[in-house]
Amino acid sequence: MSKEKFTGVKGMNDMLPQDAAIWHKVEETAIDVLERYGFQEIRTPILENTKVFTRGVGEVTDIVEKEMYSFVDSMNGDQLTLRPECTSAVVRAVNEHNLLYGTTQRLWYIGPMFRHERPQRGRYRQFYQLGAEALGMEGPDIDAEMIIMLSRLWKALGIDGVRLELNTLGALPERQAHREALIRYFEEHKSELDEDALRRLYTNPLRILDTKNPDMQDLVNNAPRLLDFLGEESRAFLARLEKLLEAAGIEYTINPRLVRGLDYYNHTVFEWITDRLGAQGTICGGGRYDPLIEMLGGRPAPGVGFAMGLERVIELMRECGNVPVSTMCDVYVLHHGGDTQITAMRAAEALRDAGVRVVVHPGSSSIKSQMKKADASGALFAVFATEDECAQGVLGIKALRSREGEEMPFAAQTPVKIEEAPAQLVEALRKVRGA
Ligand code: ATP
Ligand code: MG
Repeated sequence: MSKEKFTGVKGMNDMLPQDAAIWHKVEETAIDVLERYGFQEIRTPILENTKVFTRGVGEVTDIVEKEMYSFVDSMNGDQLTLRPECTSAVVRAVNEHNLLYGTTQRLWYIGPMFRHERPQRGRYRQFYQLGAEALGMEGPDIDAEMIIMLSRLWKALGIDGVRLELNTLGALPERQAHREALIRYFEEHKSELDEDALRRLYTNPLRILDTKNPDMQDLVNNAPRLLDFLGEESRAFLARLEKLLEAAGIEYTINPRLVRGLDYYNHTVFEWITDRLGAQGTICGGGRYDPLIEMLGGRPAPGVGFAMGLERVIELMRECGNVPVSTMCDVYVLHHGGDTQITAMRAAEALRDAGVRVVVHPGSSSIKSQMKKADASGALFAVFATEDECAQGVLGIKALRSREGEEMPFAAQTPVKIEEAPAQLVEALRKVRGA
């Protein structure tokens, strides 16, 4: 029989058990922070009708032009797409279920997104986003609050050294005037444009400002600035947002070239960026998208949101030296089979009643080899239900880890009455964790 080794799809990662603790920490911390600001979870399907994204993200964006996993459902001919982002999907669901009828919504989501990009560090074909959308509120107070919330999240995750870049895309007429000025400017410098820029010149000239081509940096730096086209209202919106951020002690820089990839933004756009992750340094991007809800068939209502790439957030936590260790259990129970196995399994159930994570050694083997497994499990304590001990109505408890300069309970193996063992272990775990 030939042996074929199967591999995952290129650019799509497995999350392995040794990384579970850090993923859980990010997810739990983020949910806790989001809920402190009144956000509630929404889950939408991973597949949507393709139109949701072509309309919601915009035809002339990187995502729609070249990154979507789209296909025809061979069973019925439906045009479907694996979601490349979730804002359009959330808005589709909000419209479909009338969630904005006479009210506002603060929503968060987490889950895999799919983009057919060239896989590299921090850029995958399946990646996780955690995002939030605040719908039905005009801002800029809610824009500020979202940014303040993110700053709280970075702190809670032990992430430092991320900087906030802020810009405004103004309102539609201002963007149109700016757009015309941009097209005129780039037409005058047509010979300096690269292929991407030429392609975007009349479809999405704003995106040319986002170019990473080093030869075009001077050109885009001298291009007409949207800031100079803003009217009274847009200026006031940005000024108020800045004031609220300053009052909250949030540092930021205004980056007039920050335009973001998606079509539907207006007013506020922002990114949180780090220099510690190489080229893929944006861990979170967001902004206001007042036209989107109506574009997707809803009654006009404003919206603002953000999405963060969890792989990048987690890599940054590692860079910041903040990595919780994944362990299988807190307590590992060893035994001699037969009746001692029954005692071991009973003791384990009593511990689980008290909320402790317990593994009972499976099968039977020498205590020495069971100790090796106990060590490898990451447990803090071993419980011995050996023949000698069970015969005396006790369990042996022993600490498996020692910590410098700290006294561990049960540093030496200690017999404890079977009925008293769970309470004593819970107490010992509390002490060790509290330390
Ligand atoms: P980039 O400029 O890096 O391509 P983007 O503008 O396409 O980012 P958004 O659509 O704003 O990204 O998505 C929000 C966040 O999701 C990004 O800031 C990033 O952290 C993450 N992200 C986007 N694409 C990927 C990907 N292919 N792999 C991993 N994370 C990603
Ligand atoms: Mg992208």
